[in-house]
Parts: sequence; structure tokens; C-alpha cells
Amino acid sequence: MNKEWKDNSGKIHSGSYHGSKNEYDVIDCSLCGFKHVVPIPSEEFLENYYRKDFVKNRPAGFYNKIEKDIPWWEIIYNEKYDLLEKYITKQNKSILDIGSGLGYFLKYGKARGWKTVGVEPSLESCDYSMKHGLEIINEYLDQKNYQKLGKYDVVHMHEVIEHLPDPVNMINLGMRMLNPGGLLCIVSPNDFNPLQEAFMKSGKTDQWWISPPEHINYFNFSSISKLLKENGFNILEQTSTFPLELFLLMGDNYIGNNKIGKEIHSKRKQFEMTMYKTGNDEIRRKLYKNISDLGLGRELIIIGQAKI
Ligand SMILES: [Zn+2]
Repeated sequence: MNKEWKDNSGKIHSGSYHGSKNEYDVIDCSLCGFKHVVPIPSEEFLENYYRKDFVKNRPAGFYNKIEKDIPWWEIIYNEKYDLLEKYITKQNKSILDIGSGLGYFLKYGKARGWKTVGVEPSLESCDYSMKHGLEIINEYLDQKNYQKLGKYDVVHMHEVIEHLPDPVNMINLGMRMLNPGGLLCIVSPNDFNPLQEAFMKSGKTDQWWISPPEHINYFNFSSISKLLKENGFNILEQTSTFPLELFLLMGDNYIGNNKIGKEIHSKRKQFEMTMYKTGNDEIRRKLYKNISDLGLGRELIIIGQAKI
């Protein structure tokens, strides 16, 4: 089945239909080259939505919970900075993190000698990061303010582009903020992946990963690579995070179940930390790289280099 939708500028987004939720349909858009929901929610709608429905006070224990996970996060950050430093070898390296959250990724980079800057719209997250001595701009990055931030060797976006009504615009902004030959590193959910489809087809659930209006875009390794190539990047690296859906297929149904969710998160952490502590992180990295070559992994990680 094909669906189409005309946006405000009169462009027709059309493509095969892949599922629905909350009155949004997912299409594999032939105009954009990746899956996204239609209608695409407007900036105004999203601003209102996040202000009203999403940003609530953080529950007690929120920061403790995050802080408990830091030794594990550092293994993930270590891998990412190692990948970036394969290509950025000069003395003074700089990185801009768009959507820097609590700032731990930048804090780790700073300790490793990088010059770091974050952009983070949430005031609370911004305050928290600044207490850790980080330089953070409390704004949404857009056409109007990107120039004042300067240029960097790396632009990083962790779980950002799936939320944007115009991800191509953000990739182009990223390009303009890079030094010649700079790197764009993107992490985003790897959705409609074969393990998700297998669990869904086993009849236990619907397409739980479809979650508009928060998630507007649904990338996989091939659509994100194509998008970066079309926008002036060569692909240097791809890898994935742990394919959490394996737990579903082994009987641990964590969908909508916080208790099981915590258990499987802790198992994944234990696996990755044990591999690291026993000197086997390199094998773990190769395993995840191979998993990404199969189109699997809960999230995709991709690094592109600006052609100019
Ligand atoms: Zn489209």
C-alpha cells in the first residue's frame, strides 16, 4: 500500500506504508529516502508538545541512577573517541555535541584532551552539565544561531535526528560547522530491524518501536549511509549497540515492563563490562561491528567525513 502527504511547502512525501500509531503513518518516503511519519509534526506543534506533555520534573533518584551507569557509559565513550581519534590525529581536537544532555560524553572527551562544546535545549540538563565545568549553550541549534558556535573537528548527535521534523537540515548545519575533513558522528535507533520484525511477527506485540510524535524518523544502516553520502560525507565507520531485541526473542519481554527492562539493561551492561575488564573489549567491538553489517543492533552508530 502506498501513502502520500503534502507538506507546507507543497512537496509530496510518498512511499510504501509500514505501520501506524497515534494517528501517524510511517512511510518509506521516496522524496526523503528514509522512513518517517506523516504528517510530519510542525516545529510549533513539537515545541508545545514537549513543553506541555513531556518535560516533567525528574523523579527522585534520576541522577543517582544515571551516575551508577557511568563506569559502563565510559566503555561506550571510550570506543567512540577511539574511532574518532583514528581520523582526527592533530594536537588540539574539538567536538560539538548537539543535544548534549547531562554532558557525560563531553566530560569524558574533555578529560581525554578534547576541546568540548555542547548545545542543549533543556535548562535543567544544561545547569547540571555546567556544574561539571562544561561549556554548554542553552538553545535549540538552528539556522539563526549556528554561526556563532564556530567550527569543529567533530559534530556528534546522540539520539537526536529521529526527533527532528527536518533531519536533512540538521545534517547540513552539521556540515557547515565542520572544519575541512571533519567528522559527523550520529547515533540513532536502528528501527524496523529484523529482530524487531521477528518478535512482532511471533504475535507477541505490535510495532512497539513506532513512537510519534517523539520519533518522527526511522533510520537503518542503509538509509542513514545514503543520506550522509547525498549530503557531502564519505562513510568511514559503522557499528551498533547491543541488539537488545535478542532478549525478547529469548523470552524476556521488556516492552512496557520496567522491571524486566532494568534486568536486561543490567545483563547487557554486565556482558560489556566483563569483556572490557578481562581485556576482551576489542573482540566485543568486532562482534558489534559484525552485528551492524547484518543490519542488527538496537542503535546504529555511523561516522561520516566531510568531503571538503
Ligand atoms: Zn519524506
